[in-house]
Amino acid sequence: MSVDGKHTRLLHAGAPSLRDGAGPVNVPVVRTSTVRFASNAELDDRHHRRAAGERVASYGRHGLDTHQALEDALCTLEGGHRAFLAPSGLSAITLVLVGLLGPGDHALVSDSVYSPLRRVDKTLLQRLGITLQYFSPGRDDLAALIQPQTKLVYLESPSSLLYEVLDLPRLAGIAREHDIPVAVDNTWSGGWFLQPLTLGANVSIQASTKYIAGHSDVMQGAVIVDSAALAERIATAHEALGLTIGADDAYLALRGLRTLPVRLAQHQRNATEIAKWLQTQPQVERVFYPALPDDPGHALWQRDFSGASGLVSFTLRHADSKAAAAFVDALRLFALGASWGGYESLALVAAPERLREHSAWQGNEPVVRLHVGLEDPQDLIVDLDQAFHRVIV
Ligand SMILES: *Cc1c(COP(=O)(O)O)cnc(C)c1O
Repeated sequence: MSVDGKHTRLLHAGAPSLRDGAGPVNVPVVRTSTVRFASNAELDDRHHRRAAGERVASYGRHGLDTHQALEDALCTLEGGHRAFLAPSGLSAITLVLVGLLGPGDHALVSDSVYSPLRRVDKTLLQRLGITLQYFSPGRDDLAALIQPQTKLVYLESPSSLLYEVLDLPRLAGIAREHDIPVAVDNTWSGGWFLQPLTLGANVSIQASTKYIAGHSDVMQGAVIVDSAALAERIATAHEALGLTIGADDAYLALRGLRTLPVRLAQHQRNATEIAKWLQTQPQVERVFYPALPDDPGHALWQRDFSGASGLVSFTLRHADSKAAAAFVDALRLFALGASWGGYESLALVAAPERLREHSAWQGNEPVVRLHVGLEDPQDLIVDLDQAFHRVIV
C-alpha cells in the first residue's frame, strides 16, 4: 500500500515485519557485542556487503535491528539516503566536520551556530590543519568568501539562542554552484518542521537528545545524508571514531519519534501563547520567536518551515545580568538547566560571550532563553508573571 501522509510514514517507519505471523508493535531492544554467524561463508558475505556500502552489521558496534529501525525512521523523517547514529549531538557535529574535512581544508560556518562547535574547532580541528571561518549569513556575501580549498558550508537555522532564520535555499544554491556540500544543524525543528535536504542541503544533523528523544532521558545525535557518496565518507569517519550508541537508547529515540509531531504541535501552541504574552509585558524589551509576525526571520520561516519549536528567548528591559539570574531563580515551574526538547519547561540566562558570537544581534541587554514545555500555558504565564513582579518591578 502506498502511503503519502507525513504522519503515517513516520509512525510506521522501521516497524518490525510479522516474520512468524505475529509480533510486537515495536522493534525489540536488540543488544549485542558479538554477532554470531552460521558459517564462515555467511560471515564473509556480511563483510563483503558492508564493504560495498550496504547497511549490514557484522559486529555489535554497527548496531543491529533497533539501530537500523531508528536509522530508517530518521531517513523517513528527513528525506535522507542514510542515517548515522552518534552518542550525542555534539559528536554528530564533530563526525560531520572530521568526516568531510581534512588537512588544508577550509569551511564556512554561520556565526550563530551552536557555540560548542567553536570549541571543537579550537581544540581539535585546528590541530588537524582544518580552518573554519565564521560568516554572517545575513550580511556577508557567501560566494565571495568561497576559496579553492573550501570543502564545506555549515549552517544552523534557526540559530541557537536567538533563532536567526537563514535563507537556506539561497545559501545552498551558492554552495552547489561551487560543488561544496552543505550541512545544516536541524535540531531546532526536530526534523519535523524542516527538511534541509529538500531545500538543497546535503547533510542534516540532529541532536536527538532534544525533540527526537523528547523526554530528557537520552543523549544522542544523528547525521542524515542525501547521497551514497556522502554516506561513504561519513561511514568511514563513523567507523574510524568507533561511534555507536546503546540499543536501549536507540529504542528510546525511536519511541520518541512516534510522538514527535503531536509533541511539537503542542510545544508550538504553548510557546506561541507565551511569546505573545511576553510581548505585552513592560519588563520585556524584545522577544525572539520566528513564528511572531514581527520577528525579522518570520517571512523566511513561513516560507521554509511548517511550524515553530518551544524555544523562546527575550531581552529584559532595565535589567542587568544579576536581575536576569534572579528572575530565573524566582521561576517555579521552569527548571533551571541546559539542553531542551523534553516535555518540561526550562529557563536559562544566555551567556553574554555566546551572544556576542551572533553578528545578527548587537544588543547588551541580558537574554533569557525559555524552553516552553507541555504544561498548561496559563500556569506557565502565572509563573513568569510572579517572577517578573518579585524581581523586576
Ligand atoms: C543541544 C544541541 C546540540 C548538542 O547536542 P548534545 O546531545 O547536547 O551534545 C547541537 N546542536 C544544537 C542546535 C543543540 O541545541
